[in-house]
Amino acid sequence: MSRSHRVDISGLLGGGRQVMLVDDEVPIEEFEGTRFANAAKVHLQLRYVDRLLHIEGTVDADALGICDSCMENVDRDIHVDIDERLDPHADREGDPFGESNVLSGNRLDVADLAQQLVLSAMPMGLRCSENCKGLCGMCGANKNVTPCSCADTGPDEIHSHGGAEA
Ligand SMILES: [Zn+2]
Ligand SMILES: [Zn+2]
Repeated sequence: MSRSHRVDISGLLGGGRQVMLVDDEVPIEEFEGTRFANAAKVHLQLRYVDRLLHIEGTVDADALGICDSCMENVDRDIHVDIDERLDPHADREGDPFGESNVLSGNRLDVADLAQQLVLSAMPMGLRCSENCKGLCGMCGANKNVTPCSCADTGPDEIHSHGGAEA
C-alpha cells in the first residue's frame, strides 16, 4: 500500500457535485498463484442518487497465471463492468463490501474496490483456452502441442470397475 487510491466523495454526498469521474491505475495483489502484470485500469463514474452512491464503469486487469490443465503460462485480460450501489450511510455489517473498507465515511477506496471486482471476475480455474487439451495422463505430453501415441488408447483401458455386472 504505497500509494493511496482513496477518493474523497464528500462533494458528491453534500450535493455540491452531480458526477465524479475517477481514472486511476491500481496494482492488484497476487491471488492464488495468479499475478497481475500491470496496474489495473479503473474508470468510474460516481453519482449520488436517492441517498445511494452509484458506481458505474470498468476495470481492466492483466492476469498472469498457470493453466490448470496443461501447466502452461496464461496471460488473460480480465474485464469487469461495474454497476454497483453502495449506501454510504449504512453501517457496513452485512454489506457485501462490509469486511473491506471500500467505502468508509466520505472516502471510496478505489484500489480495494478494483481488487474485489477483479477477484470476483476471475474464473475458478485459469485455463489457457476454452478447449485446452491438457496433459496426457500417461506420458505427460502437452496435448495442445504434441499429440502423443498413447492418447487414443488411454481412456479405453479403464472401462472395467472390477466385475460389477448388471
Ligand atoms: Zn492449458
Ligand atoms: Zn501420452
